[in-house]
Amino acid sequence: MRDKPTAERGGGYVKSFGCQMNVYDSARIGGLLETAGFDQRDGVEDADIVVLNTCHIREKAAEKVYSELGQLRVLKAERAAQGRKLVVGVAGCVAQAEGDEILKRAPVVDFVLGPQAYHRIDEALARARAGERPFYGEFETSEKFRDLRERPMRIAPRQISAFVTVQEGCDKFCSFCVVPYTRGAEISRAAPDIVAEVERLASDGVREATLIGQNVNAYRWSGDGRTWTLADLFSRLAAVPGIARLRYTTSHPLDMDEALIAAHRDLSAVMPYLHLPVQSGSDAVLRAMNRRHTSDDYRRLIDRIRAARPDTALSSDFIVGFPGETGQDFQDTLRLVRDVGFASSFSFKYSRRPGTPGAERADQIEEQAKKERLAELQALLESQRVAFNAACVGRTLDVLFEKPGRHAGQFVGRTPYLQSVQVDGSASLIGTVRRVRIARPGSNSLFGELVDMDERVAS
Ligand code: SF4
Repeated sequence: MRDKPTAERGGGYVKSFGCQMNVYDSARIGGLLETAGFDQRDGVEDADIVVLNTCHIREKAAEKVYSELGQLRVLKAERAAQGRKLVVGVAGCVAQAEGDEILKRAPVVDFVLGPQAYHRIDEALARARAGERPFYGEFETSEKFRDLRERPMRIAPRQISAFVTVQEGCDKFCSFCVVPYTRGAEISRAAPDIVAEVERLASDGVREATLIGQNVNAYRWSGDGRTWTLADLFSRLAAVPGIARLRYTTSHPLDMDEALIAAHRDLSAVMPYLHLPVQSGSDAVLRAMNRRHTSDDYRRLIDRIRAARPDTALSSDFIVGFPGETGQDFQDTLRLVRDVGFASSFSFKYSRRPGTPGAERADQIEEQAKKERLAELQALLESQRVAFNAACVGRTLDVLFEKPGRHAGQFVGRTPYLQSVQVDGSASLIGTVRRVRIARPGSNSLFGELVDMDERVAS
């Protein structure tokens, strides 16, 4: 598909909900819309096509989508009165789970795309224009991967950090989660395609690649006679000229194998910052969640990772108020948080996801108790985040500079722990890794000063 000439181009707006994967997918959808002749807009006002890229993880996800669609219905009617057309699509996990229902309940919707079908957006658009209302809900992940190879992600000028899809889907079936139903079984993208994408990004100036998927450390690909794991992929990607940093998200503790821990130890490009969700510190709750490990398994795993790479910092996801969670179970979660210590975390109240085993349970927890537990957990996690940032003051950290700051002469980069750091300097900092002495913490970022002017090149 060729880009349309400028004069004929319309406006496209992708509204993203939810996780990092969705942010990446939204960028992908935006790029495909550009190829189809719709320049990206910042809002619905001057868009000719609007795509809601939905998420099923957060509370009341479907209701939020219907409320957005209500507003789009009004806008579409206003446009029609002016003789203009507005095309509305719904994508993402809610689309996958409730596509038929969305088409039935919301006549404003012109097409629905599940998470594995974004590459078919031009076909969906054409059918919508012809008066059909298609729903693409199949799990054709290999086609999606092929499309990524044939129509690679566009990056912004001077983009320093980029996401790279390496894996889709999940086989774990945690009893609170819809991902195995909405994204399908685990499937890994071909290693040579990933390497080629990272090489292309690096030649365009990208210095940091974050490998993404629902369960990235389950990566396995055997298409060339050998089996590639995530550790193998890291060894290969760390050798790509220009790539200084490698990250990955998100992962399951069960798939954290020795080779991957060794990669954290041996490859300086693999950042010592790991998002490894534990969800709960209670063995009874972990069992009920079908996490297939205990809280002590998690503690021992963290000990092994820290033994291999002592400067590793951690982040996690937590769910409070899973059905059956007692006060003691919750105390066990607080104990695990104190034992491990997290640099940053995401925490949520449990909410029922239709079709998951957790949603069927009779022993749901009162909303008030969930609220109180979440507040207590978040206070503890926030105190750990603040303490972690405070402990960085006086240290010298490697910072990869990404962009100018808000004030003249200020530049912003990230530490290995993804903390944002503001430094006075010049534009030549952008895209380089420099030693920075952390001077003080701010509320959302750190402030520091350059230690030397030579780039520190990660091997
Ligand atoms: S491992 Fe993650 S994506 Fe997979 S089912 Fe569990 S929570 Fe969902």
